[in-house]
Amino acid sequence: MFTRDFSYLDEVHICPSCQAEMSCCEAPPVHVGDGLGWGSEVLFICLNNECPVFKNGWQHVELQYGHKGSYRRMQLPGSKEQNVMMVASEYAFTGSIIDTEVVKMQNERYLKEQEAKAALETCVAGHNLAPVLTLILDESASLANRQKAVACLRQLNDLSCIDPIRNHTFRDTSLTQECGMIISDILKAHFKKECPHCAELIKAQAQKCMHCQADL
Ligand SMILES: [Zn+2]
Ligand SMILES: [Zn+2]
Repeated sequence: MFTRDFSYLDEVHICPSCQAEMSCCEAPPVHVGDGLGWGSEVLFICLNNECPVFKNGWQHVELQYGHKGSYRRMQLPGSKEQNVMMVASEYAFTGSIIDTEVVKMQNERYLKEQEAKAALETCVAGHNLAPVLTLILDESASLANRQKAVACLRQLNDLSCIDPIRNHTFRDTSLTQECGMIISDILKAHFKKECPHCAELIKAQAQKCMHCQADL
């Protein structure tokens, strides 16, 4: 779903009838083929109940069509063309408002994941820990990408991965275990251990912690 065009997220539509900012809503699920669709996944709709189009629409619909309903001002993304939608109640569309800030954040996170995934190809040769940590610490990234990153983590054999990983809570316990094993191998390879009292890295053969002075 993320390869789509998200340019609508930055659009601001102002209702020409009441000057309220229009809400970005999911388009109703109708097929373009039956002539009812708008050819867009989102619509900007004025949901202001004081909007004259909406307030005066009830009477108009009653007279014109003989049923209960009104209109909401609507604009399509990328267009300032005026449209109206018929609505059966004041609640129509209020449940399908899209939080554009949330969609933007989700999209940015996804793009970062893709970037980090691409960077894994060269991370070991270039000794680049950053994309590896980006994926391992991103709970929303795919498990397959995170496992690829874990494989690189072992090859990178870099002590600076320990702090961020130790400070992270994994939802997936298999990742916790795997990272824990890799960390203990990295420590061994560098003749280090973690102080059981303050968690600072110290020499494997130390009798006393140089950070917290605890006897070991
Ligand atoms: Zn309006
Ligand atoms: Zn210590």
